[in-house]
Amino acid sequence: MNPLATVPLPYNALICRYNEIATKGKNRTHFEDLLVRGLRRQLEGIGKLRITKERGRIFARLRDEKARFTPEACQILRERVPRVMGAASVSPGFLVTPEMSAIEETVDTTFMNVYDAYVQSRPKNTQIRYAMRARRNFKAFPLKSKEIEIHFAERFLHQCPQLTVDLNNPEMCVDVEVRHKRAFISYERIPGPGGLPTGSSGKLLALLSGGIDSPVACYQMMKRGCQLNFITFHSAPYTPPELLDKVGRLVTALNGFQQKGRLIAVNLLPAQKLIRELCQDRLRTVLYRRLMMRIATHVARMLGDQALATGDNIGQVASQTLENLSVISRATDLLIMRPLLTFDKFETVALANKIGTFDISKHEVPDSCTVFAPQRPATASILEDVEAEEAKLDADQILTLCLAETHQLELPDLTPIPLTEPRKRSPRRA
Ligand code: ATP
Ligand code: MG
Repeated sequence: MNPLATVPLPYNALICRYNEIATKGKNRTHFEDLLVRGLRRQLEGIGKLRITKERGRIFARLRDEKARFTPEACQILRERVPRVMGAASVSPGFLVTPEMSAIEETVDTTFMNVYDAYVQSRPKNTQIRYAMRARRNFKAFPLKSKEIEIHFAERFLHQCPQLTVDLNNPEMCVDVEVRHKRAFISYERIPGPGGLPTGSSGKLLALLSGGIDSPVACYQMMKRGCQLNFITFHSAPYTPPELLDKVGRLVTALNGFQQKGRLIAVNLLPAQKLIRELCQDRLRTVLYRRLMMRIATHVARMLGDQALATGDNIGQVASQTLENLSVISRATDLLIMRPLLTFDKFETVALANKIGTFDISKHEVPDSCTVFAPQRPATASILEDVEAEEAKLDADQILTLCLAETHQLELPDLTPIPLTEPRKRSPRRA
């Protein structure tokens, strides 16, 4: 239990820190604006915010200057900040004028409450590792960062017998930032995912199965600033309705990290039957995958998505050998992002747990790949052989067949609606 969750402090502001955006040159403002937009979207429930950008930091206050962030708002913050792509961390805290007296007053009126909460949260008489961290980039401020730290480090030691200074591994930490126009004091850093803000790296169409890997691949791409739509392939009635239900829940979970993306579902069954009838068994998996790529490419162009993403992982299964991956890649001229290529399965599962998709993915439901899967799939297919098999099929006819079985599914009820091109919108301001 986070001891700070039990202290109702009258926070008047939030600070959002970022890392990678700080390395951006001329277009840094664009990235900052997208981060602000992401913050607003995720923090909708905590009240109307007035946001100020300052080099390297974003400050948010409530529009109503007299209002304070409630403990409930702080709880929302702890849940949502890990979803704000591009944010390194966010702290609720106290925004005051950049004067020592104002900083002292804030620390003096809040410190003991925080200390008591730490004391309550642990067995009697155990030590609480404590640090004071100051950062001053307002050079006219009379004390340097180190001096501010020393000033506060010892201020409370005599009244707080369980405190012990530990600068390397503190549990309780007071952060003071002194800037040109304001100072900020906080006791809690809520870690964000880092990376780049949603929408800063363009749009992708992600191939999402009900498995463990592809949702994690989607998260990795979102963390690099991509906005995702999702496409899934099923083989109803050979695959059960639970499959789409599961994919729908995965999309809902993933949409929690971005602006809502669409879910497109394609019934591959008519095409799978033709491939089973006409083509060599051992190449079936690669043929299905190339067909998925072609359909995904068509849909991506329609939706204005610039690239595809998959959860492929080198050597995991027959379709993911270097040979097969390269033959599959040749079915599209779109760039294919495969962020999990080098992941260990344990890393993928850990991340799936962290982002909340593992519990949805772990229930096994037969998917499109298991329908008509060959007994012995080729692990090293050759492009010419695969193309020779495809020549036995009428490529246009197959694509038309599949597109006739392609729908957008509304969430959460999965009502199929026709697939339409997105409306052109003028870019919104942050
Ligand atoms: P996953 O957990 O993503 O299902 P996997 O280990 O089962 O991964 P494969 O089934 O070989 O891997 O699929 C590799 C990738 O191909 C998936 O990560 C996904 O991006 C895409 N893919 C596979 N099957 C489907 C499907 N039915 N619909 C959409 N994409 C799929
Ligand atoms: Mg799969």
